[in-house]
Amino acid sequence: MISATGIKKQFGELEVLKGVDLNIAQGEVVSIVGPSGAGKTTLLQILGTLDKPNSGSITINNTEIQNLKEKELARFRNENIGFVFQFHQLLPEFNAIENIILPALIAGKNKSKSEIRAKEILSFLKLKDREHHKPAELSGGEKQRVAIARALINDPVVVFADEPTGSLDSKNQEELHKLFFSLRDEFKQTFVIVTHDLHLAHLSDREIRMKDGIVM
Ligand code: ADP
Repeated sequence: MISATGIKKQFGELEVLKGVDLNIAQGEVVSIVGPSGAGKTTLLQILGTLDKPNSGSITINNTEIQNLKEKELARFRNENIGFVFQFHQLLPEFNAIENIILPALIAGKNKSKSEIRAKEILSFLKLKDREHHKPAELSGGEKQRVAIARALINDPVVVFADEPTGSLDSKNQEELHKLFFSLRDEFKQTFVIVTHDLHLAHLSDREIRMKDGIVM
């Protein structure tokens, strides 16, 4: 599903990624682990097409990312990739359903069909009774599950998550661990997760360990 070859990235003089090669199969739940400053977030951003490498190539779902023009890339990203961050980044003035369907509306999808899909996902995430709640009316774990629903609304082939359990207590962390695997089983999505959460890393199909810009 994802193939990256020779990924290098520099910020000024600082060489953050020194030639990363990796392959991730469809339906794999992969954790990227390693010390702070190892380049994990930078790699996730590049794999997620939010940032560009200085050199190297990336193929996602048979599309060579470096061949896409800006507009094509934005469209490819919206249709194929979901993102979950440490802090949910939900819009405070919108309720759960409205937040979830935003990427679908941006993709030009029909609003009522998107709402039906959002309700299906919310039901799977055991949030059916929170549809009309705004972020301030949801607990931390609920907000993060709404953010996951938003990441799934366009049926992406891969979801990139950066410290998705980082702001949660241990009970909610464990719920989220189970959720990633049940989502993979239900929707066949690939998950690539940067995490310091060792329990999540150990549960993953594979841990990719990084140090000083290199995959160990
Ligand atoms: P990790 O996620 O493993 O903690 P990061 O990928 O966030 O590592 O960062 C790797 C290194 O790159 C760090 O030294 C960080 O300060 C630096 N860095 C990350 N993003 C930028 C940026 N936009 N500009 C300059 N330096 C950056």
